[in-house]
Amino acid sequence: ATMPPLLAAIAHAGRRGVLIKSAVVMENLASIATVAFDKTGTITSGRPMLSDVEALPGGGHSGDEVLALAAAVERLSEHPLADAVAGAAARRGLRVPLATDFAAHPGSGVTGVVDGLRVAVVAPRAAGIPQHSPAAAAVARFESRGETAVLVVRDGAPIGVLALTDTARPDAAGAVAALDRDGLGTALVTGDNSHAAARVAAEVGIGDVRAGLLPDGKTAAVADLRDAGGAVAMVGDGVNDAPALASADAGIALGGAGSDLALRASDVVIVRDDLDAVPGILAFARKAHRVVV
Ligand code: ADP
Ligand code: MG
Repeated sequence: ATMPPLLAAIAHAGRRGVLIKSAVVMENLASIATVAFDKTGTITSGRPMLSDVEALPGGGHSGDEVLALAAAVERLSEHPLADAVAGAAARRGLRVPLATDFAAHPGSGVTGVVDGLRVAVVAPRAAGIPQHSPAAAAVARFESRGETAVLVVRDGAPIGVLALTDTARPDAAGAVAALDRDGLGTALVTGDNSHAAARVAAEVGIGDVRAGLLPDGKTAAVADLRDAGGAVAMVGDGVNDAPALASADAGIALGGAGSDLALRASDVVIVRDDLDAVPGILAFARKAHRVVV
């Protein structure tokens, strides 16, 4: 017996590493007007590098101490930024203490207890630093270079700022160009700062940039894009993307380095983090839809 066309289409996509969780998803994919991309780990490689460590005056710690305290907490995190921090501490040969009471705050950062001290590694917007402080100045300097700045906070007081940089995946610009050619809109939705977001967006050709978003803010951005232009696909990899993936007309998770939560919240999983598969599966779904109906 021959397979029904819809099942044949799903099987075909599966053989190419694109897992589609249900038949109705194929129809939703065929109607997508705008594709919203997460930045860190989705448009970018997800392997950022630590580019700078600044110990703040009055913080009482050297740069290496700041990095070791941050790494102690980040070692317990699965976020792409965490690997960069822990990896840099290891490369410098620092002794990284054990952390307890670890908590991840999606879209904001991580906290833990290290040698009896409460340590947070967090986005500047989550750290509540005063304007005109040395911490604010260091953050502004790093962000103006298009980098991601994170605060290291000890018992409520900022002790240092880390700068991280990430580069776009080699296939990101091509995937965006293909979506453009197919007449679809694109947007970047990220929890990172607006400078870093704008730098990466320019590199890959995305014009609509929404930065500084908490997970709920990504969901609101998806709703806003839907109001403006019709059905929205969200592409993401992280725990921070799960609400937006679940709320989009089609949630597309990158499987390679993605979190379990993102995979569960999604309708489609791209098994190997191949961004060309995004325009590919949308075009395929439109074609399959025409054959089936
Ligand atoms: P994106 O939307 O680009 O994937 P996230 O929402 O995961 O980014 O993170 C937003 C911001 O929150 C980061 O730019 C960083 O400032 C902060 N952050 C999140 N997780 C961590 C972490 N594990 N360590 C340090 N900072 C973090
Ligand atoms: Mg991400």
